[in-house]
Amino acid sequence: MNILISGGAGFIGSWLCDFFIKKNCLVICVDNFITSSKDNIKHLLKNSKFKLIEHDISKPLFIDQPLDWVLHFASIASPKNYIAEPIKTLKSGLLGTHNCLGIARNKGAKFLLASTSEIYGDPQVHPQPESYWGNVNPIGLRSCYDESKRAAEALTYAYYRQHKVSVRVVRIFNTYGPGMQPDDGRVISNFIVQALQGKPITVYGEGKQSRSFCYIEDLIKGIEKLIKVEYYLPVNLGNPREYKIIELAKIIIKLANSSSKIKYLPLMEDDPKRRQPDITVAKKILNWKPKVELKTGLLKTIKYFKDKIFSCE
Ligand code: UDP
Repeated sequence: MNILISGGAGFIGSWLCDFFIKKNCLVICVDNFITSSKDNIKHLLKNSKFKLIEHDISKPLFIDQPLDWVLHFASIASPKNYIAEPIKTLKSGLLGTHNCLGIARNKGAKFLLASTSEIYGDPQVHPQPESYWGNVNPIGLRSCYDESKRAAEALTYAYYRQHKVSVRVVRIFNTYGPGMQPDDGRVISNFIVQALQGKPITVYGEGKQSRSFCYIEDLIKGIEKLIKVEYYLPVNLGNPREYKIIELAKIIIKLANSSSKIKYLPLMEDDPKRRQPDITVAKKILNWKPKVELKTGLLKTIKYFKDKIFSCE
């Protein structure tokens, strides 16, 4: 198979590049490195089945090779980064999705959109099934991400209905693991880096808000299953085990053997109070459920950050 992965040097994208290279596919990675890292793909650069195109996917792109799949993962996905770059975030969600759908249509390829639990906003239904329409502030700080992903889904289904493109939509809940950027501001990367450096652990608000954390290997298995089935509706992929942020802080301090203390900072605007995937659809359609326990995944992630931080110093 020939596969184009936009955002292929990002955290999830680079895991997908590795996965498809191992399956002997031709992988075309499109990335402009705005929030991703060449480190994530440098081991693939000499592989003849791997092609890197340095390009901003919100601008048109013409591909020579035939393609079987277009996987659109390019996005500024962490709140810290998308709040700093709202226009680029909107462009990759809107124009980037449009360009990727155009490529898929031209090539007769199938299309997979990396969507997000953020489309549920600050949910009033808990846990969140795919049928829930969400509670999103259309003009708030997070709207550049939430609304562009909601529009990306709408574009995807417009191409499905009007041009009969075969589509998959995965709504990704908080995912973590090796390959994350140490400075992307997400809760797991922040807490681990802070714990390893003995710095205060920055809990926003009182830490009573919750998230449900999925280890990257589980997510990749879910995506692998999704591209194998003929199922066009959105599918939640995430780990349903829910933790309060303050609980997570304490777990990470313990696992990292850290002496860090907790420091409370103001909560960001529109920070969702709870988030937990309802994975009934994934269980039924994909026969998928996450297997990696938080502790196991965190230990691997702590090791990754330890190697990364201390090899730079
Ligand atoms: N958070 C925190 N401290 C940090 C970073 C994040 O308490 O240093 C909280 C944040 O307020 C949110 C949760 O952790 O409630 C998850 O934040 P993240 O940026 O990882 O992603 P989100 O799930 O909000 O998209």
